[in-house]
Order: sequence, then C-alpha cells, then structure tokens
Amino acid sequence: MALIVQKFGGTSVGSVERIQAVADKICKFKAGGHDVVVVVSAMSGETNRLISLAKEIQEEPDPREMDVLVSTGEQVTIALLCMALKQKGQGARSYTGGQVRILTDNVHTKARIQSIDESNIRTDLDQGRVVVVAGFQGTDSEGNITTLGRGGSDTSAVAVAAALKADECQIYTDVDGVYTTDPRVCDSARRLDQITFEEMLEMASQGSKVLQIRAVEFAGKYKVPLRVLSSFVDGPGTLISLEENSSMENPIVSGIAFNRDEAKVTVLNVPEHPGVAYKILGAVAEANIEVDVIVQNSAHGDSNDFSFTIHRNELKKTVSVLENLKEDIGFSGIETDDKIVKVSLVGVGMRSHAGVAAKMFEALALDGINIQMITTSEIKITVIIEEKYLELAVRGIHSAFELDHKIEEETL
Ligand code: ADP
Ligand code: ASP
Ligand code: MG
Repeated sequence: MALIVQKFGGTSVGSVERIQAVADKICKFKAGGHDVVVVVSAMSGETNRLISLAKEIQEEPDPREMDVLVSTGEQVTIALLCMALKQKGQGARSYTGGQVRILTDNVHTKARIQSIDESNIRTDLDQGRVVVVAGFQGTDSEGNITTLGRGGSDTSAVAVAAALKADECQIYTDVDGVYTTDPRVCDSARRLDQITFEEMLEMASQGSKVLQIRAVEFAGKYKVPLRVLSSFVDGPGTLISLEENSSMENPIVSGIAFNRDEAKVTVLNVPEHPGVAYKILGAVAEANIEVDVIVQNSAHGDSNDFSFTIHRNELKKTVSVLENLKEDIGFSGIETDDKIVKVSLVGVGMRSHAGVAAKMFEALALDGINIQMITTSEIKITVIIEEKYLELAVRGIHSAFELDHKIEEETL
C-alpha cells in the first residue's frame, strides 16, 4: 500500500463531467489499496477570469485582496470533487490551504511555503477518507490568505507530498508527460520517459509551464518522486528522476523551453565607472523586480548600453525605478521592447560536448533569426529573439538537434 499525492490541473477539473472523471480515477486508486491525497487547481480559465475582474477595478490590484479573490477558484473545485467522490461512495474531505495550515511567508501573490501541518490529513487518511486540498494557496503567520504564483498548485502538491513523505507525487495534466518542447508549438515534440531534476529545473525556470519551478525545486530538495501524467489517457508519463541515468549515455539535449512573458529594457549611454551596474540592478531588486538575462554592451567612448530582461508585467514599474536614477547615474535614456521572447536549449549532456551553441546559432541563422542577447550555463543556452520568430526558432532548433519524434515509430 502506497501513499500517493495526486494533483489535477485546471483542464482536468474544467467541468462537472471532468470532475466526475477525476473522482473515478481516484476511486480506482483507492480500490487498489492506496492512500490518496488530492490537490486541485481552479477550473480552467477561472483564475484568469478573477484576475480580469480585479483589473477592471484597479490596474495594479491590491495584492492582499487579490489573494483573497483568486484563492476562491480552488475552493470551488475542492468542494465539487469531494461531492463527486461521496456520490460514488468514497469518503472524502476538502480543506483550504489555511485549514491544513499551509503556512507561507507574507509576500502576497508569490508567497513561499514554509511549513505544513499534516495532522488533519493523517487523521482523515487513517479513517479511509480521500483528502482534497486546495492548491495554490496558504496563509501567512497572521492568518492572511496568500497565493503561490501562477501554476502554484504544482508546488502545493509537492509540498504536501514532502510533508507526508508520500511514495509519489503525480501531476495530472492535459499532456501525457514532459515533452522535448511544448507540443502546442512544435507538433513533432516527443514525450520523454524521464528527465533529470536538474534539467526539469532549467526547463521550468526557462518558461516551460508544464511544472511550476518551485514545485521542481521542492521535489529535488525533499527527494519527492515526481511524475507528470495525463488525466485524460492512461500511460507511464514522465518521471522526474533524481539521478542521471548512468546505464545509457545521456542525450546532449533534452529539450527546448521558451518564455513569452519577458520584456527587454536598455539603459542608454551609461557612464563607464565601477558600481553603476550595482546601482541599476540594486534599485530594481529593491523594488522586488526579478531580473533575468543581463548584457552589458560594448563600450563606445566612456559609456555603454546596459540591457536586461524582466517580466512583462513589471515593465512600467521598472521604467519608473530607472527614471529616478537618471540624474544620479547620468545615462541618456531608456529603451524598452516587449516584443521579445526567450528560447533555451537544455541538457545535462552539454557539459561534455563542445559546439552545442554553434549548432543552435546555425539553426537560427538558417532561418534568418537575429539573436539579441545570449546567456549560458553549464546545461543551458538561452537566446533572446524577436517574438514573431518564436515558432520558427523552436521548430528549427528542435530538428537541428534531432529531437523530432520518428514517424516510423508512430506508424509501427
Ligand atoms: P495544468 O492546468 O494541468 O497545470 P498547464 O497548462 O499549467 O496545465 O501545463 C500543461 C501545459 O504545459 C501543456 O498543455 C503544454 O502546452 C505546456 N507545456 C510547455 N512546455 C511543455 C513541455 N516541455 N512538455 C509538456 N507540456 C509543456
Ligand atoms: N489556479 C492557479 C493558476 O491558474 C494555480 C494553478 O492552476 O496551479 O495559476
Ligand atoms: Mg500548471
């Protein structure tokens, strides 16, 4: 008998029929003798709907009230799923994040989980019930409702699995595993049987939304076995493995991630003297804005241009932070571009292979795509390009690295 945490995302609970199908799936697991704790998201589209309501009232909605608002989506699905389970004769109990004491810090809309009190969950499991926990939410030490950032139910599930020392955390979604790249963008993308934590962490941090990055971080830190599966079709899914598979040679490249949410800011003619980068990025960090790719362009005379990328939602805020520095630093102006995307090639095999970057850049050159910024790590190469080239770039790189699925395999 195993203890399994199952997370069902928005499309998996997107209608009453889908919720009933999820309840059937859970009942099957219970019938197999397993203990099951379920974490659910809001019905698909619901969180977006709530956010747009808020934005009709305030352009930058109050973060505390935003959390009170968006956390309601998950409260609906926990109740409906428990009703569906009970209707099928399976005892079940729903809990909001606060009720199972998912304690977070107080950073509204992007809170981090600090601890979970699993005693309620254990009592229910001992009595044969399925426990259904609202994903995406917790409460801070003062009892305020907090949320964990978009896609945060993945993190709730892994955190619950870590707290309970579950045998596996299964993330059920609308694709049957982690693919070499988003199958919505590249129809020759291939499902991976397994991917290392390190690679999954890079894929998630570079924009692959199939798992929230914090979920992967948590799973790695607490050694939670994690699997991504389809809630619509049966199959083995993708195992996020703790160790690199030593029995076979690792592929050089495992996948391609991309992110459409970034914008580029260029500070023009920044005087060349020590401490300037610190002044710019220090002020941006102080405003709680996360900076991603940074490039200091080559000097012309005694000044140079300094570019970095941030989340598109923070573009206005970033510009106003920088404007306050203009006089002090003495730069000549600020340019912004929100029509850019970030494309990253990820693979642990890159460590031991030269020429990976050149091959990626060749694929982009063949499609006539200009690279605006480049950044690399041991297992990743990232480029910033014009947004209109995203699909072309992903497909070109995908086939350059022979990631496409084999047609013969499919027809056999
Ligand atoms: P859920 O609502 O279940 O959390 P998400 O929409 O957050 O689902 O995540 C699943 C989606 O992630 C897929 O529909 C797919 O379009 C996207 N995705 C992006 N990159 C990948 C990838 N490498 N492999 C699989 N899916 C990916
Ligand atoms: N409902 C939240 C969102 O849409 C959390 C989640 O689905 O994981 O971001
Ligand atoms: Mg998700």
